[in-house]
Amino acid sequence: MKNILLLGATGSIGDSVLDVISQNQDKLNLIGISINSNVSKAKKIIQKFNPSHLYIEDSNSFNAFEKQPELKLYNNKKGLEDIINLSEIDIIVSAISGFAGLESTYISSRTGKTILLANKESIVAGGDFILSEAKKFNTTILPIDSEHNAIFQCLPPDQDIQDVKKVTITASGGPFLNSDLSELQKVTKEQALSHPNWSMGSKISIDSATLVNKCLELIEAKYLFNLDEKYFELVVHPQSIIHSIVTYLDGSSICQLSNPDMRVPIAHALSGKNRLPLDFNALDFSSLNLSFQEFPKDRMQIQNLAREVCNVGGLSGVIFNAANEIAVDNFLKGQIKFTEIYDVIFRTFDISIMSNEMSLDAINQMDIETRIKAEKVVKSIA
Ligand code: NDP
Ligand code: MG
Repeated sequence: MKNILLLGATGSIGDSVLDVISQNQDKLNLIGISINSNVSKAKKIIQKFNPSHLYIEDSNSFNAFEKQPELKLYNNKKGLEDIINLSEIDIIVSAISGFAGLESTYISSRTGKTILLANKESIVAGGDFILSEAKKFNTTILPIDSEHNAIFQCLPPDQDIQDVKKVTITASGGPFLNSDLSELQKVTKEQALSHPNWSMGSKISIDSATLVNKCLELIEAKYLFNLDEKYFELVVHPQSIIHSIVTYLDGSSICQLSNPDMRVPIAHALSGKNRLPLDFNALDFSSLNLSFQEFPKDRMQIQNLAREVCNVGGLSGVIFNAANEIAVDNFLKGQIKFTEIYDVIFRTFDISIMSNEMSLDAINQMDIETRIKAEKVVKSIA
């Protein structure tokens, strides 16, 4: 039996993880969960899965939560450290959205346990730092972002990374796949949130619509697989069936296929020697019509900025991530237009000063400073 701590249990990834657990109760046990403030959903999860530990980030929600005899409650920084370090935990799922997930991913990286990583923003912002902590403490990081899980499945553990010629990360293209950027000035929040293939939280849905999600994934992949950015190509694949492709020096290209369903990469990362059985719709290959197209030319500027982040390293990922989070937040609040999300990122980058200092404090400080700069850029636009 593997004991699982699910960070971000009330989110979209949380739902998928809980479904995989419920289909494999003889092998997987939910021992603890963390939430921000969605107490009503947390109560339903507790009723169904009976975890014995609950972390609540939001202090008002924590104070208002009625005590229960079999449930230990946690809040604040010390509580987060305590729940993550519980000795009975085998696997920590990092599924909080945004930079807010960095602290718990960092604490988890120092436990020597296994992390299932969905929270790409923590790797974009703290890549080298978090991965070197994980190495120091013998912590295993298994990606559950579908593209990275696909790459992981296509790269056998004993394969020499030098045998890789290129890695192709696929992008669905999001809801505005065949629209020019110039046509997207007036798109509404509802249009941007309605992804054709995946059902996800609001932040990543907007990232998918801008294709910034693919840029974050490029940076995430560069760190996780320790490959230079020039090995990665981003290609649009509207059906979201092939999740990524590894091409070797001898001309073989290996890919992973599945329906767009996050339970598939999650089940893979939760399995040991044997695959976990899942109730799923098998692909009907004779009816599949798979296609690929170039990454849109009018969104190359943002891809190039992500490539610059990969090459510059240091805290440049913190700037990229924080500028994007502020831009997305302001778009969702109706303060800026969809297309202005890119302007906020570029202009915040232009007025930021890079730093190579790598520590949790330096990352947090750069995040705070960048958010202030990005909000000023938003004000100058809005
Ligand atoms: P959601 O918005 O659906 O869920 C976010 C979760 O994080 C909720 O449990 C929320 O708690 C919690 N949370 C939010 N803010 C905080 C905070 N400040 N402190 C503690 N907890 C917080 O996000 P998703 O599930 O869509 O995404 C989660 C992560 O997984 C993201 O990094 C995303 O990029 C990544 N990912 C998601 C995919 C998907 O299909 N959804 C695919 C690949 C990667 P509460 O409900 O209480 O607010
Ligand atoms: Mg992905």
